[in-house]
Formats: sequence, C-alpha cells, structure tokens
Amino acid sequence: MSKTFLMGNEAFAHAALEAGVKVCAGYPGTPSSEVLETIAKAHAQGKAEGVHVEWSTNEKAALEMLAGAAYSGARTLFTCKQVGLNVASDALMSLNYVGVEGGTVLFVADDPGPISSQTEQDTRRFASFAKVPVFDPATPEQGCAMIKTAYDVSERYHTPVIVRPTTRVCHASTFIDIEDTTQAKPAKGFEKDSKWVIFPKRSFEAHGEINDRLPKIAADFSACEFNPIEVVSFGQDAEADSTASRDVPVQVSAQEPASDQVPTIGVVAGGISYAYVREALRIIEQLAREAHVALSAVKLMQVGTPYPFPAQRAEEFVQGLEAIMVFEELDHVLEDEFLKLAGQIHAPYTVHGKLTGETTARGENTTDDIAAQLIAFMQLPLSLEGRGMVAQTPIPARPPVLCAGCPHRGSFIAVKNALAAMGKKHEGVYCGDIGCYTLGNAKPLSTVDTCLCMGAGITIAQGITAVDPNRKAVAFVGDSTFFASGMTGVANAVYNGHDITLVVLDNATTAMTGSQPHPGTGVTLVGEHRKPLSIDAVLQALGVEKIIHANPLKAHDAIEAAREAIGFEGPSAVIYESPCTALIAPQAPVEFDEDACTHCTKCVSRLGCPALSWDRENRHPLIDTSLCTGCGLCAELCSDGALACPTQADSTDQSCPSSNAQEA
Ligand code: SF4
Ligand code: SF4
Repeated sequence: MSKTFLMGNEAFAHAALEAGVKVCAGYPGTPSSEVLETIAKAHAQGKAEGVHVEWSTNEKAALEMLAGAAYSGARTLFTCKQVGLNVASDALMSLNYVGVEGGTVLFVADDPGPISSQTEQDTRRFASFAKVPVFDPATPEQGCAMIKTAYDVSERYHTPVIVRPTTRVCHASTFIDIEDTTQAKPAKGFEKDSKWVIFPKRSFEAHGEINDRLPKIAADFSACEFNPIEVVSFGQDAEADSTASRDVPVQVSAQEPASDQVPTIGVVAGGISYAYVREALRIIEQLAREAHVALSAVKLMQVGTPYPFPAQRAEEFVQGLEAIMVFEELDHVLEDEFLKLAGQIHAPYTVHGKLTGETTARGENTTDDIAAQLIAFMQLPLSLEGRGMVAQTPIPARPPVLCAGCPHRGSFIAVKNALAAMGKKHEGVYCGDIGCYTLGNAKPLSTVDTCLCMGAGITIAQGITAVDPNRKAVAFVGDSTFFASGMTGVANAVYNGHDITLVVLDNATTAMTGSQPHPGTGVTLVGEHRKPLSIDAVLQALGVEKIIHANPLKAHDAIEAAREAIGFEGPSAVIYESPCTALIAPQAPVEFDEDACTHCTKCVSRLGCPALSWDRENRHPLIDTSLCTGCGLCAELCSDGALACPTQADSTDQSCPSSNAQEA
C-alpha cells in the first residue's frame, strides 16, 4: 500500500483493480478516458495480474463483450462518457433483465457545462430509466469507496451498477492509498443456463425480479455511508474575532442538536455539489462572524445513491424541516424525489431548487454560486461582494480552432476548392461528425454544416440528398469514428443508392480524446500489435466503387481527389491520410520572403492556421515559429512563392499507414 497523488480517474482505476476486476473495456470520451489508460499502464507494469483491458470499437461492443465476461463470473468494468452510454444502451437495457454473475460496474462520466460533449444529459436519469442502481460521488476518495461497494451490490443482486462522477470529480487530484499490486478475482467460466437467453417470457419474469430487488437496494442504500445526514451548527458568538481564519470549520454533527439549535432548514446535495455546499457553508459562517449575524443550524444530507432513491433515509432527514434547498448539477433528479416524498408522507416542507428558479438550471455549479443561493434561501443579511474568493480577471476569449499544422485543414480546403471549381451544380453541404474535425465549422473554413452524434454525418448526408438531389452532400468522418459508428451508414448509402461523397480524415489516431489507438492503427491499448483494419478494404467490401487516397497537405492532389470522388455518380470516398500533429515531430517552420509577397492575404484569410497572423502595418503575414509545424499548407496556397517550407517535401510525403503513425 502506498499513498500516491492521483487524478480522480486514475484513483478509480486502482479502486476497480483492488476490487478484483478482471475484464475492462470502453471507448474513449472526455472526462472518462484516463480510467482504462491507468489500468493498461498497471497491466504493462505487471501490477494488475490476470486483467484484460481494451479499447473496444465502440461502447456497445465494449458492453456486450463485458456481458460475456460477466456471465462467466468475472468482475468487469465498462467506461465511457455520458453520450457513450446512449451507444451502449441497447445492450444495457437487456443486460439488466438478463442479469450478471460477476460484478459489473459501468463507469459513466457526466459532463456538466458541457465542456466537451454534445449534450448535458444526466446519467442518473438514464439509470432510473434502465432501472439500474447508480452511485454519485462527491470526491475521488468517495468514488473509490463507491466503486468497491458497487461490485458488491452488483453481485448480491445480479444487476449492472453505474458509478457516475462528473468532470470535476474525474479530474480533481488528491493523495490516495493504493495497493502496489493487484490480482483479478478468479472467474468460474461460462456455465450454460437458459437464463442467458432473453426471450419475451423470461423478460416478463425478469422485469418482476427487477421490481422486487429495487426496493431492497433502496433499503440498503438508506443504511449505507453514502447518504450521510449531518446537523451543521454555526458559532453563535456575534462578538467573535472577525479576523478568524475562513478555514474555521463549521460544527458538523450527526448527534441530536441542542434544543435551541433544532434546524428547520435543510440542504440536500448530490455529486460534486455536496463538496461545494460544505465549502459555501464555511464561507457563510465567516461572513456572519464578520457581520455579527447569528446563524441558525442547518440540516445537511448528501444523496450519494440517487437511484433507487434512499427514501427511508430521506424521510429521516426531512423530520422537522420546513424548507429544503437542493443542489445538483444537470437535471432536478433529487428535487423531484423530495417533492415526491413530501406527497407520499404528507410532509409540510417546501422544496427549492432548479424548479423554483433558485439554483443554477444548467451547466456546472460553483461554490460562489451556491453560497449566494444559500444566502438568499436562508434570508441572511450577508453579501459576497468584495470577498475576492475567485479571481475576477476576465480570461481572454479564445475560440476553439484546429491546431497549427492539422492535416484536417488541408482536407477541408481541398473539398471546398473542388466544389467551388465544379460550379453551382455542385453547391455542397458539409456533414460533419464527432471529433476534433468538428472545428472545421469555424471561419474561415466553414466546412461543417451539421453535426449530430457519432457516425451521423454519413447518414445525414443521405437524407439531405434524398430531399435535394442537386446538392452534393459531403460527409466528413474521422478514422476512429469510422470504425466506431460509420460503417453501417456507408452500407446504407450503398444499399439504397445515395449519391454522397464520404471524406475520411485519417490521422491515425483518436485525436480529440488523447491519441488513443483504434482498429485501424493495428496497436491495442496494451501495446499488442494486430493486423490494422484497412478503411479502404472496408469501403470496398461495403460496395463503394470509387475510393481515392490523397495527402491533404498536398493541395493539388487533395483537390483533384475530391473532384474525382464528388464527380462520381453514387457513393464515393476520399481517404485523406496524414498523421495528427501530436504523433509526429514538427518540421522546420515555414520561411517568409517579403519581397515576393503580393499582400493578397490568402494565407491568413483562407487557412485559419493559428501560427499565422496578419501584420496590418506592413501588410504581410506573421509566422509564430513556436507554433508552426512546417506542414507546408500555406506554402502550397501561396501562388507567389512568398512562403516556403525548407523540409516540406519530407513533411508532406509522410505516408499514413495508420499503424506506422501510431507507433511513431
Ligand atoms: S498568400 Fe503569399 S502572397 Fe499572399 S499574403 Fe500570404 S505570403 Fe503574401
Ligand atoms: S506551415 Fe503554414 S499552415 Fe503549416 S503550421 Fe506553419 S504556418 Fe501553419
């Protein structure tokens, strides 16, 4: 055992290993990706004996693979971000009916904000929809304890269990005690049994079993450590030293309070908001000391197991309360539960939160916001103004943009130029997808007109041409997304004869989530080498008759490739191959010849490369050599020869068999 400074996700990985997890799988997605990477690292160091860990092709494949392992008695771990659970939902809904033998924990990280997602969906809602228990940690330490408990709950009730941290819990760092080496719990192997086959009759029975076990789990949750109730008493001495440290803790007690301190106000919090509430109460106490304001005690409850709702525990909490304020991120899940409870037990308390407009309706909570909302709720004559609790210096706005030297920039420009050269008949619609290439939406590229969900660009393009056959719909998809969710869309285009052009942006990695490998790279999460899946061969096998390869950093070739594919009647594809800049060493920066420059501005106004800016006074481009990768795209674009890359030939000739790039 050693105390180690770890990010929440790293700590969660160790918790799963210490729980004896044997088979782990998922698909990368912020803020969840580091969990499997940490397990793979422990595996590589020989510290995770008997563990299998993989990036699966997508979330559905991962959960189905884990279902087989769980049927065989192994403890399993699934990881994804909240929208990834949508992809795995078909498997999850049935898996809960079929049940599991080995403990099955789904680590599903939610993204309030959202900071890097399409939606702000709340996995606690998904859990109740799927009738699957869910844990909601407030801190990395608590998340570790919850993961271990989740395996026990899963095996006791033969149910998958979700652990749902949010971004700030996943990415907070702290010191955690971890086992130096771990060993997977042995699994007995698959035993044939009719229960593994989901037929309607069995499904009807299973639904009854689920309905029976949920109240039992709720009762367990009511008695567990993750739903603590505390009475928060504040120092009442109005003459107290107003210079006392803000860190003076409020008096928290699970004991019966003194009769003059019986609280009538309750505060409920879930997830990270519970940690914020505790800090906000400390701030309020300090403000009250300084302002000589007396504070009444407050009753505080964390709901760490939102589904099935620990109603018995909550009933205990609401005794004697007149008003409750609920703090939670994303949906008003707990607020709904306390409203329901009031009706069920005919309790007189009022519930305040998102539904009453008194707490933050969407996005993340903060300690300051919660402190202000509590001050208003408690009707205190206090103000947070001038506290300087957070830095008020505004951060300059920095719009998201493709990296300097990103090969996707060349692909977008090539397709745009090809369509422009083909005239009005070929006015294009650009159907984007999920990945860093969604940033093609930004000016001056403006080459993402739609973006919905993983793989959807390919099928949206088909719908657009079905309505307007005269518009050319081009679907952009990354290599990892192609394997994750793109292939069925291509099959649909071929089968139904949709005249679209697919543009595969093959940069040899899953770039946006941290350069994870995928089936096209030929390298697994644990570094094993496999035969890379060829995108070209897949497209051919699916019946795409026109497939062209090009280097997006060779402007002429890239445009010609796009023209040929777009001009083809029927489904066609261009595979633009050039590795992500994160995978290769930068080349010497581009060189500028002021005498040759005609001040046309094309290099700056058409590319949007962050390494290029415009010198207004001297009317020529400025090159930020600390950012320039020497990709050569601007030199290709400058028809006056004012920009040149000394190593352009080397840098742009890099072939991109994906596995080679990934190994580099
Ligand atoms: S594209 Fe070439 S000529 Fe035009 S402004 Fe840029 S460097 Fe000068
Ligand atoms: S060579 Fe030109 S386009 Fe490429 S990174 Fe440097 S400035 Fe940007």
